[in-house]
Amino acid sequence: MSFSSLGLSEQLVRATADQGYDTPSPIQLQAIPAVLSGKDVMAAAQTGTGKTAGFTLPLLQLLSANPRTGKGPRALILTPTRELAAQVHDSVALYSKYMPTNSAVVFGGVKINPQMMKLRKGLDVLVATPGRLMDLYGQNAVRFNEVEILVLDEADRMLDMGFIRDIRKILALLPAKRQNLLFSATFSNEIRGLAEGMLNNPVQVEVATRNATADKVKQSVYPVDQSQKTALLSKLVRDNKWEQVLVFTRTKHGANRLTQKLEKDGITAAAIHGNKSQGARTRALAEFKQGDIRVLVATDIAARGLDIKQLPQVVNFELPNVPEDYIHRIGRTGRAGESGHALSLVSADEGKLLAGIERLIKQQLPRKSVEGFEPTNNLPLKPKAKADPSRARNRGNGGGAGRTDDKPRSFGPKPGGRSGGRGRSGGSAQGRPAQRQTA
Ligand code: AMP
Repeated sequence: MSFSSLGLSEQLVRATADQGYDTPSPIQLQAIPAVLSGKDVMAAAQTGTGKTAGFTLPLLQLLSANPRTGKGPRALILTPTRELAAQVHDSVALYSKYMPTNSAVVFGGVKINPQMMKLRKGLDVLVATPGRLMDLYGQNAVRFNEVEILVLDEADRMLDMGFIRDIRKILALLPAKRQNLLFSATFSNEIRGLAEGMLNNPVQVEVATRNATADKVKQSVYPVDQSQKTALLSKLVRDNKWEQVLVFTRTKHGANRLTQKLEKDGITAAAIHGNKSQGARTRALAEFKQGDIRVLVATDIAARGLDIKQLPQVVNFELPNVPEDYIHRIGRTGRAGESGHALSLVSADEGKLLAGIERLIKQQLPRKSVEGFEPTNNLPLKPKAKADPSRARNRGNGGGAGRTDDKPRSFGPKPGGRSGGRGRSGGSAQGRPAQRQTA
């Protein structure tokens, strides 16, 4: 299968070839025809699957059918974070380089005036974070009456970050007749609720379950005392000669502290999180990509959607509170068929979090140790023994943190099938993807 056989124009195919893509990824194989059909699409896809091109390419093709008559935007792409917005916009610009299509990106944390100027010039595609978009709307800098296509990217994270109100406000301002595309890594009840209100008879697309992502990545756990974690990380970076490591901490302060300690230790590092200015974040990411910085320390939210190619190494300096974030984190490595390694430094007080993660991914992660860094107390970290005390508890409480984490998305096709119901085959209620999976 090639991009041209999916029905994409010569200009778009040329742009993908420039990027070095020769074959469409699985999500692209499904999403591109679905979007081109003009139907609403509900896609379960994580970062790293090629989802951005999965919606951007067909969207550009659809827009190219007619010229813009007003100021636009004709397509609106909403993303949860500034980084993701910038990256999606980079993709839009790359893929549309042989087309007359104009695009822009707007997000908070930077001056609003230049964004207003861009909007005034007129554009086809606008990539935005919800808060800044509402600010611009409030200042009459943008109108939505020409929107033909709406994309919600990483919808689950948008809800996690509290954007639901802004999203609902924006939805209410859009023309009723439009095409809606919803991309999300997971499908919680809240996402389903949003989808039901927003999508009309959606084509469902699903690839690479999160366990498949996890399977590609070599994972291990290093039980270690909290106080020894930084020293162990330094040692691992040095001994293994890691040149590009993404390290996750739970908090912004933790990220700053760790960065400072690593730098003191002679390891180039930078932190990327919500308290940093946009300029600082962009700079840190660029330096990391260029190889000027060996360690990029990030919090979950800041790292979400980071497009860093061929990342060989991810380290969980602390385990995430929500087991699902573990999957998102390790999804940063082992992309596109490359093998990656994710290791977790786990202190005794994180035993419960580890257990929740292992339940979710349905595997026991191998424990490793480094001489001189053995933990003083490793009791809770021992692999489960015969008398499994968690069993009784399991029934009542699945994954910890109050989420039903151990259920993979179930909105999609039956196992073995590919894309879900299109249009009518689903049966009675229209636009209700959740109905199809009772099986
Ligand atoms: P995404 O899931 O959209 O964040 O994309 C992940 C990475 O895959 C990005 O670096 C893309 O440039 C790359 N990519 C997207 N589509 C393809 C493709 N068909 N072949 C190879 N790489 C791709």
